[in-house]
Amino acid sequence: MNFAKAPAPSLPLVLCLVGLLGCVQSAEEIARTDQRLAGLRIDTIDGLRIVCLQAQPAGCPSTTGHPSIINETDRTTYVATEDKGASASLFRAGNGTTNQRAYVFASSYTNNRNIEVIVNAAENPDLNQARQKAVALSTELGRMPACVLTQVKEVKIQNSAGLGLDTGGVAAAAVSATSSIYIFEDFFNRSRQSRMAEEVLLHELAHLLFDNPTSGYATFAYKNAVVTDGVYVSRYAAGVRAVSPLQGDREDVAESFVAYFGAKFRSERVGAFFANSVRSAIPSRIAYFERFCPTA
Ligand SMILES: [Zn+2]
Repeated sequence: MNFAKAPAPSLPLVLCLVGLLGCVQSAEEIARTDQRLAGLRIDTIDGLRIVCLQAQPAGCPSTTGHPSIINETDRTTYVATEDKGASASLFRAGNGTTNQRAYVFASSYTNNRNIEVIVNAAENPDLNQARQKAVALSTELGRMPACVLTQVKEVKIQNSAGLGLDTGGVAAAAVSATSSIYIFEDFFNRSRQSRMAEEVLLHELAHLLFDNPTSGYATFAYKNAVVTDGVYVSRYAAGVRAVSPLQGDREDVAESFVAYFGAKFRSERVGAFFANSVRSAIPSRIAYFERFCPTA
């Protein structure tokens, strides 16, 4: 019996030298990327190509958030909030943290998930008001896909200005070491007004899901996907990357995940331009995200 000789494995198109050199595309891969990007709206930052997710005459958006990706019409898995009493908790302040009095709540969800919501009581001395804030946020969290809620343990609500914290207008932040999301409610409320609060949460929760050695920006598989795609969909992430490659990669995974979620699960709401641009721009990242978050 003759056995056909197995074909020699083709050389990888992407040379990914993990370390200082990072990853580079081969000439063949660059040509493929150019072909894939033909017809898309392209911007550049510091030599990095960005696919804009809005058509002209709108400006090329900074982030991948779109107010229709998740909104108040989506069902929430949130069930109830239980008072856990007053305690002390660390909040962001200045360049570090400060211990402050806090009201602790435990919110439950239909999938047997519980997330602690900790409200700064020094800023919110009225318990009922603090509980209302916890309930509002818990309702928004319940609209998030189950896959991104697996890593979050606690959400802290504080006012950034009151604690001398300069977030540069950032509405929220993720701290992977403690599986925490910080909500800076002065800016987060602005996101609510522009109907972007859920997208901010999705971005921060994506940080928690993808800020670890086995799933996320630091893995060979994700780095390989970024290089194979050869392009970014977030001017914000590309801008951060130009200054700090590691932090830029971290922002890229969160920003690209929001774009993925919008294009895959909300294509009729974000519109054809957004959805088609994402699909054409980042097919390798999409394939990566589908492994971790295949359903909405
Ligand atoms: Zn971020």
